[in-house]
Amino acid sequence: MDLSKRQEQIIAIVRENGPITGEKIAELLNFTRATLRPDLTVLTLSGILDARPRVGYFYVGNQTSSVFGELLRKSLVRDYKSVPIVVNEQTTAYDATVTMFLEDVGTLFVVRDAGILCGVLSRKDLLKLAIGQTALKEVPISIAMTRMPNIYTVTPETSIYDAGKLLIHAQVDSLPVVVPSESANGQWEVVGRVTKTTITRLFVELGESKQV
Ligand code: ADP
Repeated sequence: MDLSKRQEQIIAIVRENGPITGEKIAELLNFTRATLRPDLTVLTLSGILDARPRVGYFYVGNQTSSVFGELLRKSLVRDYKSVPIVVNEQTTAYDATVTMFLEDVGTLFVVRDAGILCGVLSRKDLLKLAIGQTALKEVPISIAMTRMPNIYTVTPETSIYDAGKLLIHAQVDSLPVVVPSESANGQWEVVGRVTKTTITRLFVELGESKQV
């Protein structure tokens, strides 16, 4: 809902000073009580302010957005991640392209033994090779991938909200979900992926008010 500047001023005053009477708000803003009446009605009906007789107005907050935000912060990557599609460093650019088509993904994770994350390969990385007229059936993807430690990752315990923020901040489509490797110290094992589709799917589920 779009609030007018005056309505935002009223909210700020009530947040600071509530409970506060309508007369007092009007006084602080240099308006008459009658001028403010429609604004106070809108803010009360929309659930942002509450009014108690003989006490005044107090701030309740925008319940809808805080419930939505809380859901996103409580939803964990662990419960929404999908299966990672992985290849190894020696895979040729041609085979990686075929894998992207067969698996219907835009990003491949590049791993060493025991699923240790060493790179990420996106569509654009492959397109760059194609533009350079590289021999796609001969070159390994290791020459085009983004390497560790320059890879943005999340863990199963990361919230969907934080994962979404990272996708936007890093301007990437896909994040590997990793856990510390049991066999290789200081390395990360890939156990899943979170993509813009993961976030969009949850968004749609919430929109349909399905049990999530
Ligand atoms: P696309 O190439 O389809 O636009 P991205 O925007 O995800 O896909 O990828 C852009 C660049 O960022 C590529 O060079 C890719 O290797 C790199 N990249 C992709 N995902 C990540 C990630 N999680 N962390 C770091 N770099 C990444």
